[in-house]
Amino acid sequence: MFSYRHAFHAGNHADVLKHLVLIATVKYLTQKPAALMVVDTHAGAGLYRLDDDFVAASGEANDGILKLAAHVPADASPLISDYLELVRAINRGGGLRLYPGSPFVVQHLLRQEARDRLKLFEMHPTDSKALAAHVAQLEAGRQVSVARQDGFEALKSLLPPPSRRGLVLIDPSYEIKSDYGRVVACLQDALKRFATGTYAVWYPIIPRPEAHELPRRLKTIANQAHKPWLHATLAIGQADVPQEPGQERRPGLTASGIFIFNPPHTLKPALAQALPQLVQVLGRGRGQGHALESGG
Ligand code: SAM
Repeated sequence: MFSYRHAFHAGNHADVLKHLVLIATVKYLTQKPAALMVVDTHAGAGLYRLDDDFVAASGEANDGILKLAAHVPADASPLISDYLELVRAINRGGGLRLYPGSPFVVQHLLRQEARDRLKLFEMHPTDSKALAAHVAQLEAGRQVSVARQDGFEALKSLLPPPSRRGLVLIDPSYEIKSDYGRVVACLQDALKRFATGTYAVWYPIIPRPEAHELPRRLKTIANQAHKPWLHATLAIGQADVPQEPGQERRPGLTASGIFIFNPPHTLKPALAQALPQLVQVLGRGRGQGHALESGG
């Protein structure tokens, strides 16, 4: 455990999909005056330098945020524009040196006056320290809390939120395959405690039975609970890079999905516009594409 460090992946195509959905969802949920509680069960370090060794070593942001920012579609969908605007705002107009993880994405959109709250959980010893230090810089006071706790377990004591308005992001690294089962159990439990909450689950699309089955299992949970759901996937495909003899090619993650319970009703049409543009800009060839389905 704990070999996963999100810094290697910050700003990649999977972050683009996840954070674009997160921004649209928080924006929608903060339209009503009641306080919103957002729980990020797997928060990561919160803020990443796009020019540091981790990011540079993996180069994943080059096929994500950096490519999108360099090739903004002329008729960019509102979801893409909002996402780029937020990332640029975090950089205070000075190029793209920083990438906001989900805690910074959400905090940027929360309202002090409405007493919105953000509860962050991160287990990694180094990343939880980094997260606490990054959050301290925000001077957000009681609005944001950070705990080095198991996010799946911690969620139980937070539901339902006092205002009955809440969004939960469940974004594990899936480095241990039990994470897939824990996501399912977590959702079953959370929907019993707080049936009207919005829940967003990110997952990697990789050749592993547990990953393949996860969206099907989530659909079953949503349908049994009679809850509306939305499922979006983004695949950037395989780059056909000529290979040097004797050199091993490591393709990395090429596709991911996000499954939302009780999504904003505006999210499906917004994604229907954004996803083809993301494929157009981020697509690398064989296997690229997107999917969008809903139910409930
Ligand atoms: N949500 C972040 C974002 O979008 O910027 C990225 C999170 S990263 C995919 C997953 C994180 O979960 C890793 O930093 C890992 O250390 C942490 N983690 C793993 N198991 C955990 C657990 N049971 N509870 C809380 N955090 C955990």
